[in-house]
Amino acid sequence: MDKVIITAAITGSRITRDVAPHIPITPDEIVQSSAECWNAGASIVHIHVRDPKTGLGTQDLDLFRQVVEPLREKTELLLCLTTSGIPGRNLPIEERLIPLELEPELASFDAGSINLGGTVFINTPEFLEAAAKRMREKGVKPELEVFDVGMIVTCLRMRDEGHLDEPLHFQFVLGTPSGSPATPKSFLHLYEQIPKGSTWSIIGIGKGHLPMSMMGLIMDGHIRVGMEDNIYYQRGELAKSNAQFVERIVRIAREYGREVATPAEARKILALHKK
Ligand code: ZN
Repeated sequence: MDKVIITAAITGSRITRDVAPHIPITPDEIVQSSAECWNAGASIVHIHVRDPKTGLGTQDLDLFRQVVEPLREKTELLLCLTTSGIPGRNLPIEERLIPLELEPELASFDAGSINLGGTVFINTPEFLEAAAKRMREKGVKPELEVFDVGMIVTCLRMRDEGHLDEPLHFQFVLGTPSGSPATPKSFLHLYEQIPKGSTWSIIGIGKGHLPMSMMGLIMDGHIRVGMEDNIYYQRGELAKSNAQFVERIVRIAREYGREVATPAEARKILALHKK
C-alpha cells in the first residue's frame, strides 16, 4: 500500500460565514488554516481565494499571491490552485487561468460541464484545451476533477490527442446534486475507467464525505477533506476548522495501517518534478 496523501480543500468559492461560521475567508485566514492542516498531516492544500467585499470566490491574482507566498515560505505544502472561478458566473478562460501565473505544482482541471449550485458549471472543450496547454507551459500538473464517467472519457481522449501527459492524476468528486452519487458502486465504476499507473484521490461531498474517504483508504487511493466539500464534522455539528477533518482522517488511516505521506513523499507519488 502506498502512503495516503491527504489534501485539504480550505474554503472553496461559495460557502459563506452565515452557513459555516469558521470557514476561512481572508488570505491570512486561508494561510493560517492551511498551515494547521499541514501540521495535522495534510501534504496538499487546494486553494481558492475570496473577494473581501462579497466573501465569494474570485480569481484575483494578488489575493492568490497573498496566500501562495507565505505558504511557500512557512510550509512544505504542495499547492493546488483552483481554475474553476466563481460559481454561476462562468468567467472568461483567461481569468480562470490567472492562478497558473504563480506556477503551483498542481491546479484543478474540471473535466466537463455539469449542473451545480443552481446553475451550469461550464467547462467547454475550448477551456479544457487552453487549461491543459497553459498548465504544460507553466509546469503545473493538472488534477483531473471528474464528477461523472463522461469526464474520464474526456480526459482519456485528451491524453490520446496529446493534450494531457501520463501519469494522469484524477480527483473523483462524488455526491454533487447532478454528478455521480457518493456510493461504493458508483465509485468503483469510475475507478475501473482510469488507466493503470494513474494516481487518484477522492472527495465525498456533504454526507458522502466519510464513506468516500473510506473508499480512498481501502482502495489504495488518496483523500481530500475540508470545508469546501463538507462543513459538518458529524451530523448536526459544524466543523470548527479544516484541521479537525485532517486530524480525523490521519487518525483513521493510521489505525487502519496506512501511513500518511509527507509533502516530499506526495511529490514522489504524484511524479512531480518541480521542487
Ligand atoms: Zn475547489
